[in-house]
Amino acid sequence: FMKEALSVVVIGASGDLAKKKTYPSLFSLYTSGFLSDSNMICGYARSKMSDDEFRDKMRPFLIKHGSDDQVESFLRLCIYSSGGYDDAKAMSAAAAKLEAHEAQQTSSKANRVYYFAIPPNVFTDVAAIIKEVGMSTTGWTRVIVEKPFGKDSESFEQLDRDMSAIFTEDIVYRIDHYLGKEMTQNLSSLRFANTFLEPIWNRNHISSVMISFKEDFGTQGRGGYFDQYGIIRDVMQNHLIQVLTLFAMEPPTKFAGEGSEISEHVRDEKVKVLRAFDPVQLDEVVLGQYLGNEKEPGYKEDKTVPDDSVTPTYAVVVFRINNPRWDGVPFIMRAGKALNERKTEIRIQFKRPPASTFMFETDVPANELVVRVQPGEAIYMKTNVKEPGLSNDIVTTELDLSYNKRFQDTYSQLPDAYTRLILDTLRGDKSSFVRDDELRESWKVFTPLLKSIEDKRFKLIPYEYGSRGPEQADELIMRVGFKYTGTYKWHP
Ligand code: NAP
Ligand code: NAP
Repeated sequence: FMKEALSVVVIGASGDLAKKKTYPSLFSLYTSGFLSDSNMICGYARSKMSDDEFRDKMRPFLIKHGSDDQVESFLRLCIYSSGGYDDAKAMSAAAAKLEAHEAQQTSSKANRVYYFAIPPNVFTDVAAIIKEVGMSTTGWTRVIVEKPFGKDSESFEQLDRDMSAIFTEDIVYRIDHYLGKEMTQNLSSLRFANTFLEPIWNRNHISSVMISFKEDFGTQGRGGYFDQYGIIRDVMQNHLIQVLTLFAMEPPTKFAGEGSEISEHVRDEKVKVLRAFDPVQLDEVVLGQYLGNEKEPGYKEDKTVPDDSVTPTYAVVVFRINNPRWDGVPFIMRAGKALNERKTEIRIQFKRPPASTFMFETDVPANELVVRVQPGEAIYMKTNVKEPGLSNDIVTTELDLSYNKRFQDTYSQLPDAYTRLILDTLRGDKSSFVRDDELRESWKVFTPLLKSIEDKRFKLIPYEYGSRGPEQADELIMRVGFKYTGTYKWHP
């Protein structure tokens, strides 16, 4: 793609996502040499601004990602055009700027990426006008869209019908930034490049899998948006289900190589595993909502949240995958706001060693493999050894791969998830983007549960800001098979 002309158009360039993620990621691609001075980046939104006013607005979000000179030369590629999202005339004017720029390039092919950093209610208006006036006539056009992809099966189908009437699936890149995270990208390498792991990645050896997302802050006065979605839609139906399907899928027929069809093999397997999910049992769900503590306000004390809100800020949901590999293994998904710490991890518990009381006169804890996605990427395996010295007791320790120590040279430069995914878009690699049938299947898994919540069939359990969440959540995870001994001590 680097030999061909390229324009990137950021729709909704005046907004939060554009300044926090889209432009800094485009800038990182520029400083890494994947974008060049011959490219053009056109911001588009209703807010009226000159090119220079727009550059002034973006500058503070770029400076920590490169030198002053790099920032200034990058900003020279950035122009801004204002207009409404259903305004064909204004969009044609922006397209004319792209055409004028492309005409000056030596390449006969000019490619275009549209990044939708706008709310979904204007997706189809914008898409229809791009189709009419904004498509490249000499190269490819690709469109990156952001969540939310609907609120349930019905609204997803509506959005998908509207969008697919305009764009074919091959040009739509649905971004879920969890798919761009180092540890998510690493999951397939970890599984399929290690002969000591893949043979035990199944019900014969694994007793439970827990995927956890914990945030140590609440809605911070911006609960109005969150309240319409809740923790299940905001975190589980998108980010965590992506991690789960990559974890649980069968090996793809083909994994590497040239050609756009390669990425379909991974996505085919993700869809297959989603189809094997059993319906969620309501007695395998615990929902909570946080209360304030001495320092921090509770969820309903956020003025933007309705007083009678039944939106969960914490959830544990147990999934069952009805296929030969995973029959009987509980997949526990936990996510919550205002908890004791911030982390995302996958915790795989293996079956207990056989006859451990006969061999060691004590209950030996099961091995546990932890993949910490963030913060501080790490992979550690809880491993039982003889306590050093004269004792014959068993002590649980860890085989530890901490990325910041093992990869000291590269760790501080790990790319942001958005940077990696925008680069994948330029390369036409769709394996880390969400396909429409994946969404269809994942909404099928979540919609009945979400409807039960809306029908008030759940009691929200209050938990204190800064705690580990409701005690009932621990009771549920232990009931379905998770083991916690409380004996493991880490010595950093
Ligand atoms: P935003 O700041 O609220 O909106 C982006 C721009 O869209 C605004 O600057 C505004 O530009 C325009 N806009 C806002 N509300 C509108 C409305 N009701 N009708 C028409 N135009 C409207 O949103 P954002 O946080 O950047 O997010 C953009 C998209 O990315 C959303 O779909 C969001 O769910 C998704 N997303 C955001 C994040 C994030 O970190 N912010 C993360 C994941 C996904 P003008 O008024 O100038 O036209
Ligand atoms: P742990 O403290 O034994 O916790 C194991 C799991 O049990 C966690 O998921 C924990 O939930 C859960 N749990 C805690 N109390 C429970 C209860 N009463 N009932 C049911 N479940 C309960 O072991 P760990 O979290 O693996 O490791 C301890 C610390 O060492 C962590 O901070 C970890 O990051 C650190 N460590 C770091 C590295 C590294 O950076 N390389 C390596 C090894 C260990 P929560 O998730 O809610 O806590």
